[in-house]
Amino acid sequence: MLVHLSLGSNTGDREGFLLSALRSLNARNSVRVVSVSSVYETEPIGYQQQPDFLNLAAAVETELAPLELLDVIQDIESQLGRTPTERWGPRVIDIDIVLWGGLELESERLTIPHRSFRERAFVLEPLLEIAGDAIDPVTGMSIADLAARPTVQGWVRPYRPAPDAGSFV
Ligand code: AMP
Repeated sequence: MLVHLSLGSNTGDREGFLLSALRSLNARNSVRVVSVSSVYETEPIGYQQQPDFLNLAAAVETELAPLELLDVIQDIESQLGRTPTERWGPRVIDIDIVLWGGLELESERLTIPHRSFRERAFVLEPLLEIAGDAIDPVTGMSIADLAARPTVQGWVRPYRPAPDAGSFV
């Protein structure tokens, strides 16, 4: 299954955390990173008094079930040193499952597509680069359609070209 993820970091070596997270994902037998967007610097949404984020989008191929991938993601987040802080506060790494093909899932631990991704430029702009044609099963809109709406929140600016495969394989 091809799954689209959003990764973000806004403290310490932000780019290093993003690459470490990609490396850790790819190191799992059950997950293969197949494409990665460039890196964007983005505005914190929610609680504003915190450093800017770096964000990127990644497509991974996996045989795992959604909750199994969430377990992997949460394991990687804690390995990289994420500690529970306030909900919108600074974080070394945040990994969200944005789209899982046409799947719609609503459970206590996991909502797919991600609940708020349609309003967030920091998710949509990187994803546009690698999956502009991907369809949000809830609205039937493509990522390109969603990214073009005027209601999308937050500035994003290009920061670095996409990391080459050698930096996370
Ligand atoms: P956050 O602090 O924003 O990373 O939120 C983490 C919580 O969101 C975790 O407890 C997850 O169980 C939950 N969650 C719900 N839907 C998703 C999703 N699509 N991807 C990642 N985490 C999710």
